[in-house]
Amino acid sequence: MQRKENPTLGLVIPCFNEQAVLPKLFDELAAFAKTAPGPVFFLFVNDGSRDATAEMLDAACAKNAQFACVHFSRNFGHQTAVSAGLQNVRGDVVAVIDADLQDPPAVILDMIAKWREDSDVVYGVRKNRKEGLLLRAAYAGFYRLLKRVSNVEIPLDAGDFCLMDRAVVDLINAMPEHNRFIRGMRGWVGFKQTGLPYDRSARAAGETKYSISKLLNLALDGIINFSSAPLRLASWIGMLSAASGVIFFGYALVSKFFLAKTPQGWASLAAIVVFFGGMQLLVLGIIGEYLVRIFDEAKNRPHYVVAGKSGWLFR
Ligand code: UDP
Ligand code: MG
Repeated sequence: MQRKENPTLGLVIPCFNEQAVLPKLFDELAAFAKTAPGPVFFLFVNDGSRDATAEMLDAACAKNAQFACVHFSRNFGHQTAVSAGLQNVRGDVVAVIDADLQDPPAVILDMIAKWREDSDVVYGVRKNRKEGLLLRAAYAGFYRLLKRVSNVEIPLDAGDFCLMDRAVVDLINAMPEHNRFIRGMRGWVGFKQTGLPYDRSARAAGETKYSISKLLNLALDGIINFSSAPLRLASWIGMLSAASGVIFFGYALVSKFFLAKTPQGWASLAAIVVFFGGMQLLVLGIIGEYLVRIFDEAKNRPHYVVAGKSGWLFR
């Protein structure tokens, strides 16, 4: 495929309560734009911030013609913010980047080089992580589990930091689902996907905006939206427990008629009852996770509500 030497680049930047890092971010992005091979469009998505983020973004959009911003009416979550960005941004190629400068903008230039060599998606692979040991172990476990159980190719240790061809962005925009797990949808489209290892820095300023519950939700969305393995697990557990029930029944008969032992131990019985009761609840819970998502899709509400726009989106 013929690839442009100087593609127009769109950058999607989700922001939630990022007032601490915004001044530095604006400077770095303006400096980055000068090094880009073609025109650059920055699109910030203000995900219902409750600090000065909105005013700071509007002020920056008024000053810099390359900036634009979409304001959500409330916090809809990171993945939804990225989706809104992808739907509104311009560009032959589109990059997604965090507001906290953990993903160095300069890496995007290397991504463009890979795109020119015919990759449709170039995703950043984290060489190192700056998080604590426990969280790092949890991330590593999650990505490996996801890779095993999902039915699409989702690369290990790749986040949302990436560069995509316009064709891929249009495909993701055409996907109607409400529970959006961008890195999964990006993998689902196929084409030529290339990983680019990079050093992930620590957050430039401010605190993480991902609470543990948001992180858990993201992990569940990843597993449930891209795999039916948990549902199968339910059937396997069911079959296994049924089989062991039959064996236990056989043993009870044998011991009654041939071993002539009086059945002893309500404790073991109680244990079995509790164990299988727990299993049933677990399996119901798994079904519930899928059901909730089907319910969300069935309601078919808008994915987000836009309160306002500024910058090149407004003009
Ligand atoms: N973010 C968002 N909405 C949220 C949470 C986070 O738009 O509800 C943005 C946040 O502003 C940042 C990016 O998502 O640009 C990644 O968040 P963060 O850096 O806090 O996550 P971490 O890097 O700690 O996983
Ligand atoms: Mg971060």
